[in-house]
Amino acid sequence: MTEHGGDANPKTDRPFAGKTAVVTGGGTGLGLAVSTRLGALGANVVCASRDLAHHSELIDRGVRLGFAVMSVPMDVSDPKSVRSGFAAAAERFGAVDVLVNNAAGNFIRPSMALAPKGFARVIDIALNGVFYCSREAGLLMRERGGAIVNISAPYASTGKPGVVHSACAKAGVEAMTRTLAAEWAPNRIRVNAVSPGPFVSQGAADRLWPSEDMVREVRSQIPLGRFGTAEEVADLVVWLAGPQASWITGAVWVADGGWSLAAPFLGAEAVKVLRRRDDA
Ligand code: NAP
Repeated sequence: MTEHGGDANPKTDRPFAGKTAVVTGGGTGLGLAVSTRLGALGANVVCASRDLAHHSELIDRGVRLGFAVMSVPMDVSDPKSVRSGFAAAAERFGAVDVLVNNAAGNFIRPSMALAPKGFARVIDIALNGVFYCSREAGLLMRERGGAIVNISAPYASTGKPGVVHSACAKAGVEAMTRTLAAEWAPNRIRVNAVSPGPFVSQGAADRLWPSEDMVREVRSQIPLGRFGTAEEVADLVVWLAGPQASWITGAVWVADGGWSLAAPFLGAEAVKVLRRRDDA
């Protein structure tokens, strides 16, 4: 592999050896799964979020599995905080080779009940924050290359009633992914996105499907019949960040159990009735 300016070999089992990866929101949910996988594959992991108590499980895993974890306080919606977090990471490890823009906030609110402040806050974290972090990472990567993976959601392109704030932020993230991919390709910085459907995380469960009925409802919308796991999504994120994806940039990869595909024209009950008619 040469794209990150290093000598990691995609055929080894530690393709991120000697690399440093910043994962925003890297201590919980998908971020924790991504950080753990990157660390297990050799990376130094910089875990960046507001609440350092959220980093303790990752720090434990780093000790158990033998990879370096740097815990950095960062509010991605605050450019100053982002700048000092990246500066601290570069000072400790000498470079930043991978950025995973995972931090976000979301909640369900019909648009007419969504206060402008609520809309603006989600845009600040989930869209503006991705730009602030990408810009700092880009400045650090521009001489030696690197890889950025953004986390989107399928409703960036389909829309989804109840999450207009998040849908707009993620649509912006996908536009940013393609734009920066084209702009930064000469610097050997690849920029891709992963668009996961509903997967199990405490944060999403608390905010998006807090009751058993809601869990059942969401599950019934997933053609593969179950929620994803953070680890299943993390595998794709890490693969896109790594040497085996060295010719992929500007792509948005969906991993959603079919959630964003067209729903059946008729419900299962109606289809049974039609089958009975055919059989008659
Ligand atoms: P999660 O565990 O709640 O993760 C959110 C993380 O973001 C937390 O670690 C939080 O840490 C961090 N964060 C929030 N605001 C921040 C800020 N202002 N500055 C820095 N960090 C901040 O949720 P998750 O489900 O794993 O979600 C991870 C990503 O997947 C998000 O981008 C989400 O939109 C996306 N996604 C999730 C699903 C799903 O079904 N779960 C589906 C599609 C897309 P602190 O509180 O410590 O700051």
